[in-house]
Amino acid sequence: MQELDLLINLRPLWLDRACQVLARGSNTHEDIRPMLERIFDLMIQAANTGDPAWLDTILTEWATSLTQTDLEGSSSNLTRLIKEISLITYTVIRQNLPERPALDLMGLLMPCFGFAFERIAEKEMQAKVTYLTDQLNQVKQSLEKLDRSKSDFIAVAAHELKTPLTLIDGYASMLRESMEQAGLSPTQAVLSDGIQNGTRRLRMIIDDMIDMSLIDNNLLSLNFQPLWINRLFSVLVDELSNSLQDRHQQLEIHPFPGISEMTFGDPERLLQVFRNVLYNAIKFTPDGGRIYVDGRKLPGFFEVTICDTGIGIAPDDSQVIFEKFVRLGNTSLHSSSKIKFKGGGPGLGLRIAKGILESHGGAIWVESPGYDEKLCPGSTFHLLIPVRTVSPDARMARLFASMANQTKKEEA
Ligand code: ADP
Repeated sequence: MQELDLLINLRPLWLDRACQVLARGSNTHEDIRPMLERIFDLMIQAANTGDPAWLDTILTEWATSLTQTDLEGSSSNLTRLIKEISLITYTVIRQNLPERPALDLMGLLMPCFGFAFERIAEKEMQAKVTYLTDQLNQVKQSLEKLDRSKSDFIAVAAHELKTPLTLIDGYASMLRESMEQAGLSPTQAVLSDGIQNGTRRLRMIIDDMIDMSLIDNNLLSLNFQPLWINRLFSVLVDELSNSLQDRHQQLEIHPFPGISEMTFGDPERLLQVFRNVLYNAIKFTPDGGRIYVDGRKLPGFFEVTICDTGIGIAPDDSQVIFEKFVRLGNTSLHSSSKIKFKGGGPGLGLRIAKGILESHGGAIWVESPGYDEKLCPGSTFHLLIPVRTVSPDARMARLFASMANQTKKEEA
C-alpha cells in the first residue's frame, strides 16, 4: 500500500517532532521516545490491517498508569495526549507530503484517531469511576466505624448510668417509705413523686439508648411467643388512659380483620413499637384530638394503621423521622416530655420501632398530607407485622407443636 510506505518513511521525522512537542521544556526526550516508537508502530499496524483495535493495549496501559492526581483532576489528560499526537501527525504529514498523498494518508489514519479518542475517554472514565468508588467505599467504611464507636460509646455510657440510677431509685423508694411511716406531708409527697417520675423517665431514656445500640449492632434478639394484636392494644389502652385523659384525647381501636388472630412474635417488643407510635400520636396531637387504630389482613402480613389528628409531617421528613436522634422543628423551644403537646424526646422512639419491626421481618412508614400546626392534617403510621403460624425459634416451635398435638388428642 502506497500510503503505508509514506507513513513508514515519515517515522524519524514524526518521532523527532513528537519528542520535541510532548517533552517540551524538560529533559525527558529519551524517556518518552520508546513509548512514542511503540505508538507509531501500532499506528502502522492498525493502518495496515484496517483494525484500529491494535492500539487497544497501549491505551489500556496508559489508563491503568494514571496517577492519583490525574484521577482526582477534572480534566482529561489522556484525551489531551491523543489530541497532541493527532496534531503532530497532521503537521508532519502536511509539511512533508504533497496535498493529495497527505490527504490520502490522513484518511487512512482517521479511523485510528477516532478509535483512540473514543477508547481513551471510555477507559479514563472507567478508571476515574473505579477510583472514586474506592474513595467513597473508604469514606463509607470510616463513617461506619465512627457510627459503631458512637454506638459503643452510647451503650457503655447507658450501662454506666444505669448503676447510679438504680441507687437513686432505691434510696428514693426507701426515703418515701420512711416518710410515709412518719406521716407524709403534701409537699413531701409532691417532691418524692417528682424524684420518682424523673428517675422513671431517665430509666426509659437509658433503656432506649441500650435498645438503639442493640439494633445498630444487629444484636436485638427476639423472644418469639404466641400473641394477639388486640391483647397488646388492651394493655396499652389501660396504660395510656391517664395520659389521654390529661390531654382530653380519644383513643379508638377498630376491631379489624386479623386483630384477634394468633401469630408468633415478641409481644414485649411489639408492645414497645405500638407504645412508641401511640405516645408520639398523643404528643403531636393538640388537646381534644383523636387517635384511631385500624388495620387489615394482607397476604402474609397484618397491617396496623395508627392515625392521629395532629400537626402532621412534611413529605421531606417522612423518611428522616425513622433515623436516630431526629426531632423535627426547633427542638430548643420544646420542653422534654412524654405526653405534653410537642414535648421533646431523645428522637429514638421511631428508630427503635423500625428496628424491632424489621427484625420481625416487617416494616413501618408514615403518610401525612403535610406539616401544619394550625390545620392539623394528621399522620397515619403503617406497621406491617408478618403473620407467623409457626415460631421461627425451633425450640418454641417444637414446644407449641407438642402442645397443639396434646390439645387435639384431648379433644378427640
Ligand atoms: P421523639 O418522640 O423522642 O422525639 P421519635 O423517634 O419517636 O422521637 O420521633 C421523631 C420525630 O418525628 C419527633 O420528634 C416528631 O418531630 C416526629 N413525629 C413522630 N411522630 C409524629 C406524629 N404522630 N405527628 C407528627 N410528628 C411526629
